Amino acid sequence: MDTTQYLLEAASFTRLGDSRSGVVDISALARATEDLPEQQGQKFSWSVRGELDSAGRRFIHLHVTGFIILECQRCLTPFEQPVEVLNSFEIVDTEAELELDEDDFEGSDRILATQRLNLLELIEDEVILSLPYVARHEICPSLPDALSSNDEPNFLDAEKPNPFAMLSKLKKF
Ligand SMILES: [Zn+2]
Repeated sequence: MDTTQYLLEAASFTRLGDSRSGVVDISALARATEDLPEQQGQKFSWSVRGELDSAGRRFIHLHVTGFIILECQRCLTPFEQPVEVLNSFEIVDTEAELELDEDDFEGSDRILATQRLNLLELIEDEVILSLPYVARHEICPSLPDALSSNDEPNFLDAEKPNPFAMLSKLKKF
């Protein structure tokens, strides 16, 4: 993978109003997929744009779209979670500005101008932050299947009463 496209001089990038875009393979975002089911080799599209506004403030705007495979906490099957990141970062010159209260900066995340920005890390962080706290289908598609396929009277896990098995027994009467 060509990593140089992900290195960015924040100060000049914003001053020039530069922009950059590309696609990144899910395999490059190892931190984001650490505890997740197997992914499908999918790609994320990303773009960044630098901005110097009329008040002299510098911003980097990041846009990332794609999807990630999560495991539904309700039915335990994998599903595609759409990912859409739209975030802006203000470029600041000093550590002190970095630590100001969020309120003073209108809620923008901040990045130090002297740092050479690693876009890949930024994309990965933002994808991680965009993931739902509890991964779940809105409507679990496999539940009706589970109901209809568990018609066998000898349910494998007989130790624990299984609500689906109970339901399928009821259906026989
Ligand atoms: Zn589900």
